[in-house]
Amino acid sequence: MKQRRQGKGVVYLVGAGPSDAELITVKGKRLLEEADVIVYDRLVGSSVLSYGNNEAEYIDVGKRSGFHPIPQEEINKILAAEAEKGGRIVRLKGGDPLVFGRGAEEAEYLNAQGIAFEIVPGITSAVSVPAYLGIPVTHRDMASSFHVVTAHKKDGSFPDISYDALVKGGGTLVFLMGVHTVKDVAEGLLKSSMPPETPAAVLERGTTARQRKIKGTIADIARKALEEKVQSPAIILVGQAAGEDQMEWYDKRPLAGKKFVVTRPREQKDKLSALLREKGAEVLEAPTIRIVPIEENPALDEALEKIVDYSWLVFTSPTGVQIFRDYLKKHSIDNRKLSHLKFAVIGQGTAEKMREWGFSPDLMPEVYDSRHLAEELALQVGKKEKILLPRARMGSRELTEILERAGIQTADIPLYDTCYESRPFVDLEKEFGEGISDYAVFTSASTVRGFVHAAPELDFGRVTALCIGEKTEEEARKAGMVTYTARRADVESLVLLAEEMEKQ
Ligand code: SAH
Repeated sequence: MKQRRQGKGVVYLVGAGPSDAELITVKGKRLLEEADVIVYDRLVGSSVLSYGNNEAEYIDVGKRSGFHPIPQEEINKILAAEAEKGGRIVRLKGGDPLVFGRGAEEAEYLNAQGIAFEIVPGITSAVSVPAYLGIPVTHRDMASSFHVVTAHKKDGSFPDISYDALVKGGGTLVFLMGVHTVKDVAEGLLKSSMPPETPAAVLERGTTARQRKIKGTIADIARKALEEKVQSPAIILVGQAAGEDQMEWYDKRPLAGKKFVVTRPREQKDKLSALLREKGAEVLEAPTIRIVPIEENPALDEALEKIVDYSWLVFTSPTGVQIFRDYLKKHSIDNRKLSHLKFAVIGQGTAEKMREWGFSPDLMPEVYDSRHLAEELALQVGKKEKILLPRARMGSRELTEILERAGIQTADIPLYDTCYESRPFVDLEKEFGEGISDYAVFTSASTVRGFVHAAPELDFGRVTALCIGEKTEEEARKAGMVTYTARRADVESLVLLAEEMEKQ
Protein backbone atom coordinates (compact mmCIF):
# COMPACT_ATOMS: atom_id res chain seq x y z
CA MET A 1 0.00 0.00 0.00
CA LYS A 2 1.05 3.56 -0.68
CA GLN A 3 2.69 5.79 1.86
CA ARG A 4 0.10 8.51 2.37
CA ARG A 5 0.93 12.17 2.44
CA GLN A 6 1.08 13.91 5.79
CA GLY A 7 -1.83 16.02 6.94
CA LYS A 8 -5.48 15.89 6.07
CA GLY A 9 -6.48 14.36 2.81
CA VAL A 10 -8.76 15.52 0.02
CA VAL A 11 -11.90 13.74 -1.12
CA TYR A 12 -12.68 13.81 -4.83
CA LEU A 13 -16.28 13.08 -5.75
CA VAL A 14 -15.70 11.69 -9.21
CA GLY A 15 -18.28 10.85 -11.85
CA ALA A 16 -17.39 7.54 -13.49
CA GLY A 17 -19.75 7.86 -16.44
CA PRO A 18 -22.47 5.38 -17.34
CA SER A 19 -20.25 2.25 -17.59
CA ASP A 20 -18.20 2.29 -20.79
CA ALA A 21 -14.64 2.64 -19.52
CA GLU A 22 -13.87 5.36 -22.05
CA LEU A 23 -16.71 7.58 -20.88
CA ILE A 24 -14.92 8.84 -17.80
CA THR A 25 -13.34 12.31 -17.92
CA VAL A 26 -9.61 12.79 -18.36
CA LYS A 27 -9.55 14.32 -14.88
CA GLY A 28 -11.41 11.39 -13.35
CA LYS A 29 -9.00 8.91 -14.90
CA ARG A 30 -5.98 10.85 -13.67
CA LEU A 31 -7.36 10.93 -10.13
CA LEU A 32 -7.96 7.17 -10.19
CA GLU A 33 -4.39 6.64 -11.31
CA GLU A 34 -3.14 8.76 -8.43
CA ALA A 35 -5.59 7.76 -5.69
CA ASP A 36 -4.57 6.37 -2.31
CA VAL A 37 -8.07 5.12 -1.60
CA ILE A 38 -10.92 4.37 -4.00
CA VAL A 39 -14.41 4.17 -2.53
CA TYR A 40 -16.91 2.68 -4.98
CA ASP A 41 -20.23 0.92 -5.21
CA ARG A 42 -21.91 -1.55 -7.49
CA LEU A 43 -23.11 0.98 -10.03
CA VAL A 44 -19.59 1.75 -11.13
CA GLY A 45 -18.54 -0.46 -14.01
CA SER A 46 -15.51 -2.52 -13.08
CA SER A 47 -13.92 -1.50 -16.39
CA VAL A 48 -13.57 2.05 -15.08
CA LEU A 49 -12.18 0.80 -11.78
CA SER A 50 -9.29 -0.88 -13.53
CA TYR A 51 -7.74 2.57 -14.07
CA GLY A 52 -7.05 2.52 -10.34
CA ASN A 53 -3.44 1.95 -9.45
CA ASN A 54 -2.12 -1.22 -7.82
CA GLU A 55 -1.16 0.42 -4.56
CA ALA A 56 -4.53 2.01 -3.89
CA GLU A 57 -6.84 0.65 -1.24
CA TYR A 58 -10.26 -0.31 -2.63
CA ILE A 59 -13.33 0.05 -0.45
CA ASP A 60 -16.60 -1.39 -1.73
CA VAL A 61 -19.51 0.43 -0.11
CA GLY A 62 -22.05 -1.11 -2.45
CA LYS A 63 -21.87 -4.54 -0.86
CA ARG A 64 -25.22 -5.45 0.53
CA SER A 65 -25.49 -7.20 3.80
CA GLY A 66 -28.76 -9.04 3.38
CA PHE A 67 -30.89 -6.60 1.45
CA HIS A 68 -29.57 -3.48 3.14
CA PRO A 69 -27.04 -1.36 1.35
CA ILE A 70 -24.44 0.34 3.52
CA PRO A 71 -26.31 3.35 4.94
CA GLN A 72 -25.34 6.74 3.58
CA GLU A 73 -24.26 8.00 7.02
CA GLU A 74 -21.77 5.19 7.22
CA ILE A 75 -20.37 5.98 3.77
CA ASN A 76 -19.98 9.60 4.85
CA LYS A 77 -18.08 8.48 7.91
CA ILE A 78 -15.80 6.22 5.88
CA LEU A 79 -14.93 9.14 3.59
CA ALA A 80 -14.18 11.41 6.53
CA ALA A 81 -12.13 8.77 8.34
CA GLU A 82 -10.05 8.07 5.23
CA ALA A 83 -9.49 11.79 4.68
CA GLU A 84 -8.24 12.10 8.25
CA LYS A 85 -5.54 9.55 7.42
CA GLY A 86 -4.33 11.80 4.59
CA GLY A 87 -3.84 11.39 0.86
CA ARG A 88 -6.22 11.41 -2.05
CA ILE A 89 -9.54 9.73 -1.58
CA VAL A 90 -11.54 9.12 -4.73
CA ARG A 91 -15.25 8.60 -4.18
CA LEU A 92 -16.32 7.14 -7.49
CA LYS A 93 -19.95 7.43 -8.52
CA GLY A 94 -21.88 6.21 -11.53
CA GLY A 95 -22.71 8.84 -14.15
CA ASP A 96 -22.47 12.33 -12.69
CA PRO A 97 -22.00 12.56 -8.91
CA LEU A 98 -24.68 15.21 -8.47
CA VAL A 99 -27.40 13.65 -10.62
CA PHE A 100 -29.35 11.47 -8.18
CA GLY A 101 -26.04 10.16 -6.91
CA ARG A 102 -26.28 11.46 -3.35
CA GLY A 103 -23.06 13.28 -4.08
CA ALA A 104 -24.59 16.40 -2.59
CA GLU A 105 -25.12 14.68 0.75
CA GLU A 106 -21.52 13.54 0.82
CA ALA A 107 -20.22 16.99 -0.10
CA GLU A 108 -22.38 18.64 2.57
CA TYR A 109 -21.15 16.21 5.20
CA LEU A 110 -17.50 16.72 4.26
CA ASN A 111 -18.01 20.46 4.32
CA ALA A 112 -19.50 20.28 7.81
CA GLN A 113 -16.52 18.23 8.96
CA GLY A 114 -14.06 20.73 7.54
CA ILE A 115 -12.69 18.22 5.04
CA ALA A 116 -11.49 19.50 1.67
CA PHE A 117 -13.27 18.08 -1.32
CA GLU A 118 -13.56 18.58 -5.07
CA ILE A 119 -16.30 17.58 -7.46
CA VAL A 120 -15.42 16.05 -10.81
CA PRO A 121 -18.50 15.90 -13.03
CA GLY A 122 -19.21 12.82 -15.08
CA ILE A 123 -21.28 11.92 -18.10
CA THR A 124 -24.73 11.21 -16.77
CA SER A 125 -26.62 8.13 -17.88
CA ALA A 126 -29.62 10.38 -18.53
CA VAL A 127 -28.16 11.52 -21.84
CA SER A 128 -25.43 8.99 -22.63
CA VAL A 129 -27.48 5.81 -22.34
CA PRO A 130 -30.00 7.13 -24.91
CA ALA A 131 -27.10 8.26 -27.14
CA TYR A 132 -25.56 4.76 -27.13
CA LEU A 133 -28.93 3.39 -28.21
CA GLY A 134 -29.31 5.97 -30.95
CA ILE A 135 -31.84 8.22 -29.19
CA PRO A 136 -31.37 11.99 -29.00
CA VAL A 137 -32.89 13.55 -25.87
CA THR A 138 -33.50 16.73 -27.86
CA HIS A 139 -34.24 17.03 -31.54
CA ARG A 140 -35.16 20.02 -33.69
CA ASP A 141 -38.34 18.35 -34.89
CA MET A 142 -39.39 16.37 -31.83
CA ALA A 143 -38.21 17.69 -28.49
CA SER A 144 -36.99 21.09 -27.43
CA SER A 145 -36.34 20.16 -23.80
CA PHE A 146 -35.68 17.16 -21.63
CA HIS A 147 -36.51 16.53 -18.01
CA VAL A 148 -34.60 14.16 -15.81
CA VAL A 149 -36.81 12.77 -13.09
CA THR A 150 -36.32 10.24 -10.33
CA ALA A 151 -38.87 7.48 -10.15
CA HIS A 152 -37.60 6.50 -6.72
CA LYS A 153 -37.88 8.35 -3.45
CA LYS A 154 -35.19 8.73 -0.82
CA ASP A 155 -36.98 6.44 1.62
CA GLY A 156 -37.93 3.95 -1.08
CA SER A 157 -41.55 5.02 -1.45
CA PHE A 158 -42.98 6.39 -4.67
CA PRO A 159 -42.16 10.06 -5.18
CA ASP A 160 -44.78 12.74 -5.76
CA ILE A 161 -44.10 13.47 -9.36
CA SER A 162 -46.06 16.27 -10.88
CA TYR A 163 -47.16 14.36 -13.98
CA ASP A 164 -49.41 17.21 -15.08
CA ALA A 165 -46.46 19.56 -15.30
CA LEU A 166 -44.31 16.98 -17.08
CA VAL A 167 -47.00 16.27 -19.68
CA LYS A 168 -47.66 19.97 -20.24
CA GLY A 169 -43.96 20.71 -20.62
CA GLY A 170 -43.65 18.44 -23.65
CA GLY A 171 -40.08 17.43 -24.40
CA THR A 172 -38.40 14.16 -23.54
CA LEU A 173 -38.88 12.64 -20.10
CA VAL A 174 -36.06 10.63 -18.64
CA PHE A 175 -36.85 8.60 -15.52
CA LEU A 176 -33.96 7.22 -13.53
CA MET A 177 -34.10 4.45 -10.93
CA GLY A 178 -37.36 3.20 -12.29
CA VAL A 179 -37.03 -0.50 -13.13
CA HIS A 180 -39.74 -1.43 -10.65
CA THR A 181 -41.91 1.59 -11.26
CA VAL A 182 -42.43 1.55 -15.03
CA LYS A 183 -46.09 0.75 -14.45
CA ASP A 184 -46.63 3.61 -11.99
CA VAL A 185 -44.84 6.08 -14.25
CA ALA A 186 -46.90 5.07 -17.29
CA GLU A 187 -50.15 5.22 -15.32
CA GLY A 188 -49.26 8.60 -13.89
CA LEU A 189 -48.63 10.02 -17.34
CA LEU A 190 -51.81 8.51 -18.80
CA LYS A 191 -53.87 9.94 -15.96
CA SER A 192 -52.45 13.36 -16.76
CA SER A 193 -53.79 12.99 -20.29
CA MET A 194 -50.67 12.05 -22.15
CA PRO A 195 -51.81 10.41 -25.42
CA PRO A 196 -51.47 6.63 -24.98
CA GLU A 197 -49.63 6.28 -28.29
CA THR A 198 -46.75 8.46 -27.04
CA PRO A 199 -43.52 6.53 -27.68
CA ALA A 200 -41.71 5.13 -24.66
CA ALA A 201 -38.59 3.02 -24.25
CA VAL A 202 -36.77 1.24 -21.48
CA LEU A 203 -33.00 1.33 -21.86
CA GLU A 204 -31.17 -1.32 -19.93
CA ARG A 205 -27.46 -1.58 -19.01
CA GLY A 206 -26.62 1.25 -21.39
CA THR A 207 -23.08 1.63 -22.82
CA THR A 208 -22.22 -2.00 -22.05
CA ALA A 209 -22.05 -4.95 -24.43
CA ARG A 210 -25.37 -6.13 -22.99
CA GLN A 211 -27.28 -2.90 -23.53
CA ARG A 212 -30.91 -3.30 -24.64
CA LYS A 213 -33.68 -1.07 -25.84
CA ILE A 214 -37.28 -2.13 -25.27
CA LYS A 215 -39.59 0.00 -27.33
CA GLY A 216 -43.29 0.66 -27.02
CA THR A 217 -45.81 3.31 -26.11
CA ILE A 218 -46.76 4.51 -22.66
CA ALA A 219 -49.81 2.26 -22.97
CA ASP A 220 -47.82 -0.96 -23.33
CA ILE A 221 -44.26 -0.26 -22.11
CA ALA A 222 -44.92 -1.62 -18.61
CA ARG A 223 -46.11 -4.97 -20.00
CA LYS A 224 -43.19 -5.15 -22.42
CA ALA A 225 -40.64 -4.36 -19.72
CA LEU A 226 -42.09 -7.14 -17.61
CA GLU A 227 -42.06 -9.62 -20.50
CA GLU A 228 -38.48 -8.76 -21.30
CA LYS A 229 -37.49 -9.13 -17.63
CA VAL A 230 -35.72 -5.78 -17.54
CA GLN A 231 -32.97 -5.59 -14.94
CA SER A 232 -31.38 -2.66 -13.15
CA PRO A 233 -29.81 -0.34 -14.14
CA ALA A 234 -32.30 0.96 -16.64
CA ILE A 235 -33.89 4.26 -17.54
CA ILE A 236 -37.36 4.97 -18.86
CA LEU A 237 -37.63 7.37 -21.74
CA VAL A 238 -40.90 8.97 -22.82
CA GLY A 239 -41.68 11.29 -25.72
CA GLN A 240 -41.42 11.48 -29.50
CA ALA A 241 -37.64 11.07 -29.37
CA ALA A 242 -38.03 7.70 -27.62
CA GLY A 243 -39.44 6.33 -30.88
CA GLU A 244 -36.42 7.44 -32.89
CA ASP A 245 -34.63 4.60 -34.68
CA GLN A 246 -32.69 6.26 -37.46
CA MET A 247 -29.63 6.85 -35.37
CA GLU A 248 -28.59 3.43 -34.16
CA TRP A 249 -24.86 2.93 -34.45
CA TYR A 250 -23.66 0.79 -31.56
CA ASP A 251 -24.39 -2.61 -33.05
CA LYS A 252 -23.00 -1.77 -36.45
CA ARG A 253 -19.43 -2.42 -35.38
CA PRO A 254 -17.91 -5.90 -35.79
CA LEU A 255 -17.36 -6.74 -32.11
CA ALA A 256 -20.36 -4.87 -30.66
CA GLY A 257 -22.29 -6.77 -28.02
CA LYS A 258 -19.28 -8.81 -26.95
CA LYS A 259 -17.36 -8.44 -23.73
CA PHE A 260 -13.69 -9.34 -23.53
CA VAL A 261 -11.60 -9.82 -20.43
CA VAL A 262 -8.02 -8.80 -21.15
CA THR A 263 -5.64 -10.53 -18.76
CA ARG A 264 -2.22 -9.25 -19.73
CA PRO A 265 -0.20 -7.25 -17.23
CA ARG A 266 -0.94 -3.57 -16.88
CA GLU A 267 2.29 -2.49 -18.52
CA GLN A 268 1.32 -4.17 -21.80
CA LYS A 269 -2.40 -4.12 -22.08
CA ASP A 270 -3.17 -0.77 -23.67
CA LYS A 271 -2.83 -1.57 -27.34
CA LEU A 272 -4.87 -4.76 -27.23
CA SER A 273 -7.74 -3.15 -25.34
CA ALA A 274 -7.70 -0.15 -27.65
CA LEU A 275 -7.86 -2.36 -30.75
CA LEU A 276 -10.78 -4.34 -29.34
CA ARG A 277 -12.65 -1.21 -28.30
CA GLU A 278 -12.09 0.31 -31.71
CA LYS A 279 -14.01 -2.66 -33.13
CA GLY A 280 -16.90 -2.02 -30.75
CA ALA A 281 -16.13 -4.53 -28.01
CA GLU A 282 -16.58 -3.91 -24.30
CA VAL A 283 -13.29 -4.57 -22.56
CA LEU A 284 -12.70 -5.40 -18.94
CA GLU A 285 -9.06 -5.08 -18.07
CA ALA A 286 -8.21 -7.67 -15.46
CA PRO A 287 -4.48 -8.25 -15.38
CA THR A 288 -3.89 -11.69 -13.88
CA ILE A 289 -0.13 -11.35 -13.59
CA ARG A 290 2.24 -8.61 -12.61
CA ILE A 291 5.76 -8.05 -13.86
CA VAL A 292 8.34 -7.44 -11.16
CA PRO A 293 11.77 -6.40 -12.46
CA ILE A 294 14.75 -7.80 -10.58
CA GLU A 295 16.25 -4.62 -9.14
CA GLU A 296 19.60 -5.96 -7.95
CA ASN A 297 20.85 -8.26 -10.66
CA PRO A 298 24.49 -9.38 -10.23
CA ALA A 299 24.20 -11.91 -13.08
CA LEU A 300 23.18 -9.16 -15.45
CA ASP A 301 25.85 -6.80 -14.09
CA GLU A 302 28.48 -9.38 -14.85
CA ALA A 303 27.17 -10.02 -18.36
CA LEU A 304 27.11 -6.28 -19.04
CA GLU A 305 30.69 -5.90 -17.86
CA LYS A 306 31.73 -8.53 -20.37
CA ILE A 307 29.36 -7.42 -23.08
CA VAL A 308 32.18 -7.40 -25.68
CA ASP A 309 32.32 -11.20 -25.38
CA TYR A 310 28.78 -11.48 -26.72
CA SER A 311 27.70 -11.28 -30.36
CA TRP A 312 23.92 -11.55 -30.01
CA LEU A 313 21.33 -9.99 -27.74
CA VAL A 314 18.03 -11.87 -27.80
CA PHE A 315 14.65 -10.65 -26.51
CA THR A 316 11.55 -12.79 -26.14
CA SER A 317 9.05 -10.10 -25.12
CA PRO A 318 8.46 -6.35 -25.32
CA THR A 319 8.55 -6.33 -21.51
CA GLY A 320 12.05 -7.81 -21.61
CA VAL A 321 13.23 -5.00 -23.89
CA GLN A 322 11.69 -2.35 -21.64
CA ILE A 323 13.17 -3.73 -18.43
CA PHE A 324 16.60 -4.22 -20.00
CA ARG A 325 16.49 -0.66 -21.26
CA ASP A 326 15.46 0.69 -17.87
CA TYR A 327 18.26 -1.26 -16.23
CA LEU A 328 20.89 0.26 -18.52
CA LYS A 329 19.52 3.70 -17.86
CA LYS A 330 19.47 3.22 -14.12
CA HIS A 331 23.08 2.09 -14.16
CA SER A 332 24.15 4.82 -16.59
CA ILE A 333 25.24 2.37 -19.25
CA ASP A 334 25.45 3.99 -22.66
CA ASN A 335 23.63 2.40 -25.60
CA ARG A 336 26.86 2.54 -27.62
CA LYS A 337 28.13 -0.34 -25.49
CA LEU A 338 25.71 -2.48 -27.49
CA SER A 339 26.74 -1.27 -30.92
CA HIS A 340 28.74 -4.41 -31.80
CA LEU A 341 25.78 -6.70 -31.11
CA LYS A 342 23.25 -8.28 -33.39
CA PHE A 343 19.68 -8.31 -32.14
CA ALA A 344 17.14 -11.10 -32.35
CA VAL A 345 13.50 -10.83 -31.34
CA ILE A 346 10.71 -13.36 -30.98
CA GLY A 347 8.06 -11.45 -32.91
CA GLN A 348 6.52 -8.24 -34.13
CA GLY A 349 5.64 -6.71 -30.74
CA THR A 350 9.19 -7.11 -29.49
CA ALA A 351 10.58 -5.81 -32.79
CA GLU A 352 8.47 -2.67 -32.44
CA LYS A 353 9.76 -2.12 -28.94
CA MET A 354 13.34 -2.42 -30.23
CA ARG A 355 12.68 0.12 -32.97
CA GLU A 356 11.21 2.51 -30.43
CA TRP A 357 14.52 2.22 -28.62
CA GLY A 358 16.40 2.98 -31.85
CA PHE A 359 17.60 -0.50 -32.78
CA SER A 360 16.52 -2.57 -35.78
CA PRO A 361 16.34 -6.30 -35.12
CA ASP A 362 18.60 -8.48 -37.29
CA LEU A 363 16.57 -11.61 -36.82
CA MET A 364 12.88 -12.39 -36.32
CA PRO A 365 11.46 -15.88 -36.99
CA GLU A 366 8.63 -16.46 -39.46
CA VAL A 367 6.52 -17.97 -36.66
CA TYR A 368 6.59 -15.96 -33.42
CA ASP A 369 7.44 -18.56 -30.80
CA SER A 370 10.42 -19.81 -28.81
CA ARG A 371 10.98 -22.90 -30.91
CA HIS A 372 11.14 -21.03 -34.20
CA LEU A 373 13.33 -18.34 -32.68
CA ALA A 374 15.76 -20.97 -31.36
CA GLU A 375 15.86 -22.84 -34.67
CA GLU A 376 16.52 -19.67 -36.61
CA LEU A 377 19.29 -18.67 -34.18
CA ALA A 378 20.82 -22.14 -34.43
CA LEU A 379 21.12 -21.58 -38.18
CA GLN A 380 22.55 -18.06 -38.02
CA VAL A 381 24.74 -17.92 -34.93
CA GLY A 382 28.31 -19.07 -35.37
CA LYS A 383 29.81 -21.74 -33.10
CA LYS A 384 32.19 -19.27 -31.46
CA GLU A 385 29.56 -16.62 -30.91
CA LYS A 386 27.88 -16.07 -27.56
CA ILE A 387 24.25 -15.17 -26.95
CA LEU A 388 22.97 -12.94 -24.17
CA LEU A 389 19.38 -13.86 -23.37
CA PRO A 390 17.86 -11.58 -20.72
CA ARG A 391 14.24 -12.62 -20.08
CA ALA A 392 11.62 -13.80 -17.59
CA ARG A 393 12.90 -16.04 -14.84
CA MET A 394 10.34 -18.64 -15.82
CA GLY A 395 11.25 -18.50 -19.54
CA SER A 396 10.66 -21.42 -21.87
CA ARG A 397 13.16 -24.27 -21.51
CA GLU A 398 12.66 -25.21 -25.13
CA LEU A 399 14.57 -22.16 -26.34
CA THR A 400 17.71 -22.86 -24.35
CA GLU A 401 17.57 -26.60 -25.02
CA ILE A 402 17.61 -26.13 -28.78
CA LEU A 403 20.51 -23.66 -28.52
CA GLU A 404 22.41 -26.01 -26.22
CA ARG A 405 21.94 -28.88 -28.65
CA ALA A 406 23.28 -26.68 -31.42
CA GLY A 407 26.37 -26.08 -29.27
CA ILE A 408 25.74 -22.35 -28.88
CA GLN A 409 26.83 -20.71 -25.65
CA THR A 410 23.94 -18.88 -24.10
CA ALA A 411 23.76 -16.74 -20.96
CA ASP A 412 20.16 -17.08 -19.83
CA ILE A 413 19.76 -14.16 -17.42
CA PRO A 414 16.58 -13.59 -15.42
CA LEU A 415 15.34 -10.00 -15.81
CA TYR A 416 11.96 -10.15 -14.11
CA ASP A 417 9.55 -12.32 -12.21
CA THR A 418 5.89 -12.75 -12.96
CA CYS A 419 3.60 -12.75 -9.94
CA TYR A 420 -0.10 -13.42 -9.66
CA GLU A 421 -2.21 -10.30 -9.56
CA SER A 422 -5.58 -9.99 -7.96
CA ARG A 423 -7.91 -7.07 -8.41
CA PRO A 424 -10.59 -7.08 -5.76
CA PHE A 425 -13.26 -5.51 -7.95
CA VAL A 426 -13.04 -8.00 -10.78
CA ASP A 427 -14.99 -11.17 -10.14
CA LEU A 428 -13.89 -13.58 -12.86
CA GLU A 429 -16.05 -16.35 -11.44
CA LYS A 430 -19.10 -14.15 -11.89
CA GLU A 431 -18.04 -12.76 -15.29
CA PHE A 432 -17.75 -16.23 -16.83
CA GLY A 433 -19.89 -18.29 -14.49
CA GLU A 434 -22.89 -16.07 -15.24
CA GLY A 435 -22.01 -15.45 -18.87
CA ILE A 436 -21.47 -11.69 -18.45
CA SER A 437 -18.21 -11.87 -20.39
CA ASP A 438 -17.84 -13.69 -23.69
CA TYR A 439 -14.09 -14.12 -24.12
CA ALA A 440 -10.90 -14.23 -22.10
CA VAL A 441 -7.86 -13.06 -24.03
CA PHE A 442 -4.48 -14.56 -23.16
CA THR A 443 -1.14 -13.31 -24.39
CA SER A 444 1.08 -15.81 -22.56
CA ALA A 445 0.85 -19.08 -20.70
CA SER A 446 1.51 -17.19 -17.47
CA THR A 447 -1.59 -15.03 -17.93
CA VAL A 448 -3.61 -18.28 -18.14
CA ARG A 449 -2.03 -19.54 -14.92
CA GLY A 450 -2.81 -16.21 -13.26
CA PHE A 451 -6.43 -16.46 -14.41
CA VAL A 452 -6.80 -19.97 -13.01
CA HIS A 453 -5.25 -18.78 -9.76
CA ALA A 454 -7.66 -15.83 -9.53
CA ALA A 455 -10.78 -17.91 -10.15
CA PRO A 456 -10.27 -21.25 -8.43
CA GLU A 457 -13.99 -22.03 -8.19
CA LEU A 458 -14.78 -21.39 -11.85
CA ASP A 459 -15.89 -24.13 -14.21
CA PHE A 460 -13.30 -23.35 -16.89
CA GLY A 461 -15.43 -25.07 -19.50
CA ARG A 462 -17.42 -21.83 -19.49
CA VAL A 463 -14.42 -19.82 -20.64
CA THR A 464 -13.77 -19.23 -24.33
CA ALA A 465 -10.08 -18.44 -24.50
CA LEU A 466 -8.49 -16.50 -27.34
CA CYS A 467 -4.81 -17.40 -27.23
CA ILE A 468 -1.84 -15.66 -28.82
CA GLY A 469 0.11 -18.84 -29.60
CA GLU A 470 0.53 -22.56 -29.10
CA LYS A 471 2.09 -22.50 -25.62
CA THR A 472 -0.68 -20.27 -24.34
CA GLU A 473 -3.33 -22.44 -25.93
CA GLU A 474 -1.83 -25.56 -24.39
CA GLU A 475 -2.07 -24.03 -20.92
CA ALA A 476 -5.68 -22.91 -21.45
CA ARG A 477 -6.69 -26.30 -22.81
CA LYS A 478 -5.07 -28.00 -19.83
CA ALA A 479 -7.28 -25.86 -17.55
CA GLY A 480 -10.36 -27.05 -19.46
CA MET A 481 -11.14 -23.90 -21.42
CA VAL A 482 -12.53 -23.81 -24.94
CA THR A 483 -9.57 -22.53 -26.93
CA TYR A 484 -8.86 -20.68 -30.16
CA THR A 485 -5.45 -19.56 -31.36
CA ALA A 486 -4.39 -16.54 -33.38
CA ARG A 487 -2.83 -17.16 -36.76
CA ARG A 488 0.24 -15.18 -35.80
CA ALA A 489 1.49 -14.44 -32.31
CA ASP A 490 0.68 -10.75 -32.15
CA VAL A 491 -2.18 -8.67 -30.78
CA GLU A 492 -3.44 -7.66 -34.23
CA SER A 493 -3.98 -11.33 -35.07
CA LEU A 494 -5.80 -11.87 -31.78
CA VAL A 495 -8.25 -9.14 -32.69
CA LEU A 496 -8.62 -10.62 -36.17
CA LEU A 497 -9.39 -13.99 -34.58
CA ALA A 498 -12.16 -12.41 -32.51
CA GLU A 499 -13.62 -10.78 -35.60
CA GLU A 500 -13.56 -14.04 -37.55
CA MET A 501 -15.37 -15.81 -34.73
CA GLU A 502 -18.08 -13.16 -34.64
CA LYS A 503 -18.58 -13.32 -38.40
CA GLN A 504 -19.47 -17.00 -38.23
N1 SAH B 1 -25.55 9.67 -11.02
C1 SAH B 1 -26.05 8.73 -11.97
C2 SAH B 1 -27.45 8.26 -11.63
C3 SAH B 1 -27.53 7.53 -10.32
S1 SAH B 1 -29.11 6.89 -9.99
C4 SAH B 1 -25.99 9.34 -13.38
O1 SAH B 1 -25.71 10.51 -13.52
O2 SAH B 1 -26.15 8.58 -14.33
C5 SAH B 1 -29.00 5.30 -10.68
C6 SAH B 1 -29.88 5.17 -11.88
O3 SAH B 1 -29.21 5.67 -13.03
C7 SAH B 1 -30.23 3.75 -12.25
O4 SAH B 1 -31.29 3.26 -11.48
C8 SAH B 1 -30.61 3.91 -13.69
O5 SAH B 1 -31.90 4.45 -13.83
C9 SAH B 1 -29.62 4.95 -14.16
N2 SAH B 1 -28.43 4.34 -14.79
C10 SAH B 1 -27.16 4.46 -14.39
N3 SAH B 1 -26.33 3.80 -15.22
C11 SAH B 1 -27.10 3.25 -16.17
C12 SAH B 1 -26.83 2.44 -17.32
N4 SAH B 1 -25.59 2.09 -17.64
N5 SAH B 1 -27.87 2.05 -18.08
C13 SAH B 1 -29.13 2.41 -17.77
N6 SAH B 1 -29.43 3.16 -16.70
C14 SAH B 1 -28.44 3.58 -15.92
